[in-house]
Amino acid sequence: MSGIVGYIGKSSAHTIILDCLTDLDYRGYDSAGIAISNMESIEVRKEKGRVEDLSALLEIEPILKGNIGIGHTRWASHGAPTVANAHPLCDENGQFYVAHNGIIENYSQLKNMLKSKGYVFKTETDTEVIPHLLVHYYNGNFEDTVKKVLPLLKGSFALAIMSKEQPDTIIAISQENPLIIGFGQQEAFLSSDISALLSYTKEIYPIKNGEIAILTPNEIKVQTISGEIIQPEKKMVEWDKEDFSLQEYEYYMLKEIMEQPKEIKKTLEGRIEENNIHLPELEAFLTEHNVSKYRKIDIVASGTAYHAGIVGKKVIETMINIPVEVSISSEFRYEHGPLNEENLVIFISQSGETADTLSALKEAKLHGCPTIAITNRKRSNLARKADCTICTNAGPELAVPATKAYTTQITVLLLLAIVLTEKTNGPGMERIREMISELQLLPEEVEKTLIMTQDAIDQFAQVTEDQESLFLIGRGLDYVLALEGALKLQEVAYLHADAYASGEMKHGTMALITPGVPVIALSTQKHLRDKTINNIREIKARNAFVVGVTTIGDDDIGEIVDEVMYIPEVHPFLMPIVAAIPLQLLAYYAGTVRGFNVDRPRNLAKSLTVE
Ligand code: GLU
Repeated sequence: MSGIVGYIGKSSAHTIILDCLTDLDYRGYDSAGIAISNMESIEVRKEKGRVEDLSALLEIEPILKGNIGIGHTRWASHGAPTVANAHPLCDENGQFYVAHNGIIENYSQLKNMLKSKGYVFKTETDTEVIPHLLVHYYNGNFEDTVKKVLPLLKGSFALAIMSKEQPDTIIAISQENPLIIGFGQQEAFLSSDISALLSYTKEIYPIKNGEIAILTPNEIKVQTISGEIIQPEKKMVEWDKEDFSLQEYEYYMLKEIMEQPKEIKKTLEGRIEENNIHLPELEAFLTEHNVSKYRKIDIVASGTAYHAGIVGKKVIETMINIPVEVSISSEFRYEHGPLNEENLVIFISQSGETADTLSALKEAKLHGCPTIAITNRKRSNLARKADCTICTNAGPELAVPATKAYTTQITVLLLLAIVLTEKTNGPGMERIREMISELQLLPEEVEKTLIMTQDAIDQFAQVTEDQESLFLIGRGLDYVLALEGALKLQEVAYLHADAYASGEMKHGTMALITPGVPVIALSTQKHLRDKTINNIREIKARNAFVVGVTTIGDDDIGEIVDEVMYIPEVHPFLMPIVAAIPLQLLAYYAGTVRGFNVDRPRNLAKSLTVE
């Protein structure tokens, strides 16, 4: 997703801003721009494409030298990714310069109002209303004018604003869209994401909703819109620059796939003690809320996290006597069943900034539901707003396609399922011991799976190069896995991949099976394998090319398919983690063999801060 950075200090602002924008590169964007102040005037340069393109432009058309500035990488939501639409945007007279992440939802009313007053719009963006509004309400005081304009804007957004008449100041705002201040030696930084700050500082303050930060060379003031002064409580970032480096890998996606044994270990660290699960972050919540009284649990998430949620549903429903429903965040916000304080709602988001999921959380809170967040970012909006948060501790995930986020989210859901089972004395009590001992072995099993499948999957991916479609089939938890495998292939290899419940093929989709079409048949759930074998035979009878993914020793499957990938056998609830590995690798190799940038698939972005 788009990114904002800012700098104020003694060094060359444009060098630092370009460097920071490059570190936000992984979020995905389609144009970039920069505004620099030399304390007398402000100059802007913008370019389509990547930060390298902006740097190349600056070689040809150097920008003025200054120690203050803002930069932006835009992920177009309103208007094409053109130079004109790129940020920072300004008004006709170049009085205010705005870099904006997110969407101004009521921009069209504001635009009509401004047009009727004679303001001329030069871009198709929603953002352009902001500089015009600032001009319209300007009373000679930059800060006051921003405070007047802010309440007029609806939506979730982050803003960095500069003013020609006060060229030593940057005003920064975060409304449900992250913006972080970094504190250096006599210098300050702004960034949408800590990754861009780590070369300069580890001391940060995430601006909270409704706060306005005013950065000048001498001080950083944070206040509320009504002028109440806030003392920004500085926090130290726990991640290092090294966590963000590619190391020996060509792509973050492969690095993150390979990191899974280590990251799952971190997710489990300190949470299993003497065969008991400890989630201290849940304790206060569980004291306050009587879980046994819950009538329903909702799990709400988007994309890969939604698939992790379905795995969670199947496990939790088996372990405790409470029905669980899984919803897509963008749907849940507008349509859901009856909700009240007896509904626990669990939200899952890697970044904790997914706008759809944050809106769904707001909706659940409006109905008085107790809420739990599962996220990788403990200082995210989701973590701050939910009643309690369980962190996946998976380290930064920079590739757009989620891999380690998925496996660590399921790991956390399994831990949560165990705790809820104990609290409610659910029917899954007798499974807990076995689950815990298998969880302890999980990092090793994932490691083994990587070793066992990497080369074979690489070879199979080469064969898929000319294919346009691919099907994945499975039953029960394998069907969920098929959904996630298909999503990965769609986003990374741009392959028309579809997932079906194995038994459902004969009700329609079988018509698409033609000789040679690749089908991945997942069979990791022992109690369903005989039925799956029948379904594989049906597909083989139509001469599809079937690749089976099954557990070591299941030779019956091995005999009927064209190729087989064996993976270690673990507890059935843990299979969706282990079996996800070959599917992630398949997407990676299928994407790279086609020559795609798997870290930044077309049209997609990381941390989706727009709805
Ligand atoms: N809505 C704004 C635009 O389309 C900002 C998009 C972004 O977050 O980059 O220009």
